[in-house]
This record gives sequence, structure tokens and C-alpha cells, in this order.
Amino acid sequence: MTHPTCPACEADVPIPDDAMENELLACPDCGGELEIISLNPLELDFAPEVEEDWGE
Ligand SMILES: [Zn+2]
Repeated sequence: MTHPTCPACEADVPIPDDAMENELLACPDCGGELEIISLNPLELDFAPEVEEDWGE
């Protein structure tokens, strides 16, 4: 499995085999909160704020 890179510091971020889309991870290098936005292809993005702001 490929290792995507942290969008903040570009470190390799290990993805668990049982990772799910929308799962949250912490970057091992900068500690940033990341979200798996897609598994195929693997893409990471910054985790959304905990605020509920899904409206327009
Ligand atoms: Zn990072």
C-alpha cells in the first residue's frame, strides 16, 4: 500500500490496513490532524474543525 504524505509537512503517513474513508489520523511528524478523504487513490487532507458547519 502506498503511503500518502502529510499535506502540512510532507512526511510519509502510515495508513492502517483497515483504514476507512473519513477516518482521522495524526501525522507522526508534525502531529497534525489529518483525514482520509479517499482510499482509492489514497488522499489525505487536513481534518475538518470539530465544528458542525456542513451547510452552505
Ligand atoms: Zn505532518
